[in-house]
Amino acid sequence: MSSDRIKIVWIYPDLLSTYGDQGNTIVLERRAALRGIPTETVHLRSDEPVPADGDIYLLGGGEDRPQILAAQRLRGDGGLARAVQSGAVVFAVCAGYQLLGHEFGGEEGQPVPGLGLLDIRSGRGEQRAVGEIVGDVAAELNVPRITGFENHQGVTHLGQNVRPFAKVVHGVGNGSGDGFEGAYSGRVLGTYMHGPALVRNPGLADLLLGWAVGSELQPLDNSWADRLREERLNAVLS
Ligand code: GLN
Repeated sequence: MSSDRIKIVWIYPDLLSTYGDQGNTIVLERRAALRGIPTETVHLRSDEPVPADGDIYLLGGGEDRPQILAAQRLRGDGGLARAVQSGAVVFAVCAGYQLLGHEFGGEEGQPVPGLGLLDIRSGRGEQRAVGEIVGDVAAELNVPRITGFENHQGVTHLGQNVRPFAKVVHGVGNGSGDGFEGAYSGRVLGTYMHGPALVRNPGLADLLLGWAVGSELQPLDNSWADRLREERLNAVLS
């Protein structure tokens, strides 16, 4: 943490904010507050410079053209790359995930340069992946089974310098044939999961908060979130 509070930067709500991904911000604020950790959230519009002193940067999903514009602006700005170099946490969903990679597919499938902050490459698949997604998270992250929903045309290939975030149990995820969903490297984590992801998966929210705080977090009562999780998991797995 750079100060006495966790600074959360919600990147480009005017371009990357489909499927309620902004809920991820609210969950982080709430779970920090319940532990007595103050937060400050910046809703950063795409015409504003990316602050370098954020602790957690969040990116959401987006349509193809806003995604291209967001990638161009973030590349030009350079602030997110600097924050990652100084150890900030980044959590990116769908379009946000794709644009962290070396390249992704534009609206006609043309390769568009990404930020190169994750060693992944995305292109456009034959079919849109739409529906519930369930996955078992990489054991070293110590996060319970994830549930969310996906809606993307993109297919993502993982390079040598990232680890798969989860193994797909139901749904498509990265869609590159290796059966994985999402990717992470250090404290930069990307996923195809909407939901919002952190509402459905408080364990994932706590992983990000723990990275930001740098210490073990006090456990919370998750009974409401667990009811939602159970309902969603039963809907697809039973
Ligand atoms: N435009 C991207 C795709 O279709 C991302 C979509 C999204 O963020 N939901 O793959």
